Amino acid sequence: MLDTKKEYLIIKILQVNLPLWFKQAKRDLPFRQTKDPYSIWISEIMAQQTQIDTLIPYYYRFIKQFPNVFSLTLASEDEVIKAWEGLGYYSRARNLHQAARLIVSDYNGLMPDTFTELIKLPGIGPYTGGAIASIAFNEKVCAVDGNVLRVISRYCNSYDDIGDAKTKKRITQWLETILPQAVGDFNEGLMELGAMICTPQNPKCLLCPIRDGCQSFIAGTTALIPVKKKKQKQVTKKMEVGIVKQNGALFFIRRPDAGLLSGMWSFPITEAAAKNSQAIKKKLEESFSQLGEPVLIGTSRHVFSHVIWEMSVYGFNLDLSVCETNAGYLTANQPPDQSTFKSLAQVDELALPVAFSKLLKLLDNF
Ligand code: SF4
Repeated sequence: MLDTKKEYLIIKILQVNLPLWFKQAKRDLPFRQTKDPYSIWISEIMAQQTQIDTLIPYYYRFIKQFPNVFSLTLASEDEVIKAWEGLGYYSRARNLHQAARLIVSDYNGLMPDTFTELIKLPGIGPYTGGAIASIAFNEKVCAVDGNVLRVISRYCNSYDDIGDAKTKKRITQWLETILPQAVGDFNEGLMELGAMICTPQNPKCLLCPIRDGCQSFIAGTTALIPVKKKKQKQVTKKMEVGIVKQNGALFFIRRPDAGLLSGMWSFPITEAAAKNSQAIKKKLEESFSQLGEPVLIGTSRHVFSHVIWEMSVYGFNLDLSVCETNAGYLTANQPPDQSTFKSLAQVDELALPVAFSKLLKLLDNF
């Protein structure tokens, strides 16, 4: 990776300057005040798809509600998903819950203390496993994420595509050979440097503690590195949402166990077919034998990582006089745990993703 003549000095600068800088310059984050593996685990999972500044209030709330692995185990999946609401990528919460149960059943409630055992748990991949093992247990393993790939590619003036798994493997293997004793501070230093100094655009090289060894700084190529394949284009999908209202209560369904927003609650939604096809009406007619004409009550747009939903939202009023009822509400042709009616005051009881909760404001038009 590097010219062997330079390598000793370059590695020393990285091994010595980086942990020292991290100790002095690190942001004062709540999960950095502890070596508790549970807290580090929660913070690392939250940080996977969420900016640090955004996740801090969620982190405080989550740790307050579930202060240890036992409290997480005792909670229902719905409660955990509810506590995750707003962070998105809900499979993370589901995996946390499953992993907590495994830690209690297979490890007597103690977080596994090695990388090898950690990555056996759902939702813990090599990066998260490396972060927990090195920060909480000082195990000499690295934690390579996008930030680290960028920093090391620049540090080594490497034009290898960081989207390529082979590049990640090469960088991981190189880092494994140079990890210092203070491995937690070294790994966190790399992450912090990537977040605060060696940023994707306009890296602050003049403030950088490893600048003297940085080969792209010396070569003047920092703006060209890292090389990254073009991101997969987001697909835009036209969707139709049906808000079914009866006696002031709204109809919700549970989404399938796999795929986007899996297992969460939502309004019925379907991909629009041809213009004016009213695909949502056809879908709802599978559940309700008597359905009035839909009223277009608004539109909304929601951006996920790979897909954008452009939603037309239709309101349906159910008429009790023409419906079979059950406990005051019409019986939907769905298993009872897969659908429910909730009044507006009860909606908070459901894990309702933002894509749908933001549609509630359209009810004024209905
Ligand atoms: S000198 Fe600049 S490009 Fe090199 S590691 Fe530091 S911030 Fe990144």
